[in-house]
Amino acid sequence: MYLLSNRAQELIADEQRYGAANYAPLDLVVERAEGVWLWDVEGKRYLDCVSAYSAVNAGHCHPRIYAALVEQARRVTLTSRALRNDRMPGFLEKLTRICGYDKAVPMNTGVEAVETAVKLARRWGYAVKGIPTDRAEIVVFENNFHGRTMTAVSASTTAEYRARFGPFLPGFVAVPFGDFDALANAITPNTCAILIEPIQGEGGVNVPPDGYLRRARDLCSERNVLFIADEVQTGFGRTGDMFGCDYESVKPDILVVGKALGGGYYPVSAALANDDVMQLFAPGDHGSTFGGNPLASAIAEVALDVIVSEDLPARARRAGSTLVRGLRAIGSPSILQVRGRGLLIGVVTNFPAHRLSEALLERGIAAKETRDDVLRIAPPLVIDDDAIAYLLDRFTDALKAAETRP
Ligand SMILES: *Cc1c(COP(=O)(O)O)cnc(C)c1O
Repeated sequence: MYLLSNRAQELIADEQRYGAANYAPLDLVVERAEGVWLWDVEGKRYLDCVSAYSAVNAGHCHPRIYAALVEQARRVTLTSRALRNDRMPGFLEKLTRICGYDKAVPMNTGVEAVETAVKLARRWGYAVKGIPTDRAEIVVFENNFHGRTMTAVSASTTAEYRARFGPFLPGFVAVPFGDFDALANAITPNTCAILIEPIQGEGGVNVPPDGYLRRARDLCSERNVLFIADEVQTGFGRTGDMFGCDYESVKPDILVVGKALGGGYYPVSAALANDDVMQLFAPGDHGSTFGGNPLASAIAEVALDVIVSEDLPARARRAGSTLVRGLRAIGSPSILQVRGRGLLIGVVTNFPAHRLSEALLERGIAAKETRDDVLRIAPPLVIDDDAIAYLLDRFTDALKAAETRP
């Protein structure tokens, strides 16, 4: 059993007493972090294979991002969009250049950027495609995850995300992920967009069949439908390319990014598109008090610099292939599959994956299941060979313990 110190027990008890129980976290109370490592309140060290769901791709407490935060915090942090600030233009210039779009709408959390994309696509459906008022449809995919607002939950097909939260926003049609014919059949003259994750992260690290994203992209072009990619989790190097869609050279009409854009320090997200779509937003159509604030802009600008200058996509590709090879080489019959791309890896187990998660925690590795039978391994992209060896070393032992545990 995993023995908790008194201090950890007290903190957990207070969290449970004063906080709503809307999460079931591991009993690891983090006090400090650096790079790929976490330390708990007793000073015990863990390898972080969660990375705050890919929000800390650059590693914890990156010194360059820290310096930018402190520097900006001394000057000005928040102006609202009622005024202009001197940091947002540079951030937007860098973001649009790296992502390859004319313009961006800066937001805060991932789900707000998804929300922005949905509004923009509906606007385009009416203004450009000529869909009758309030009839626009967006095709989404079974087991998707786009966040937790009512829009995202309305787009979801996962029972536990939806139960007793209705009524839902109309206008979403769900089809199986990876089934091209189902997608083609779901598109009607009222379809304004498809909303897709290039790899479903929360849904279980589901990688679509080869060629699927390319065919979906071509279908959207043929049928005059926008292709919206939710790259909040897959973006900025996680999958071994800058974006998950790059694997099939797919260019979305609207790109949704978040998580790693904030460098692990601050929530920063954005929806990007070219002028033909983005010009449909006029003053008053959409906004956010905190979106594009000077502190967020300063942090995100340097976070983007770090992703590019440290070549995080290539590092993820190299480290990911070493790690996947190592995990497959374990050759245990209780591992049914090791899948993913770059450093977004899913280990499919033939027993409840939370047992493996607990056994790993006892051995100094923080990793969590994302579906009942899928453990996600997604360390910061700066993981080196020594840390990979550390992980593989302990993984075999944890697996043995988890297989026999009740
Ligand atoms: C995490 C996530 C979101 C939501 O981001 P938040 O910052 O939690 O709102 C949306 N889409 C995908 C694919 C995600 O992984």
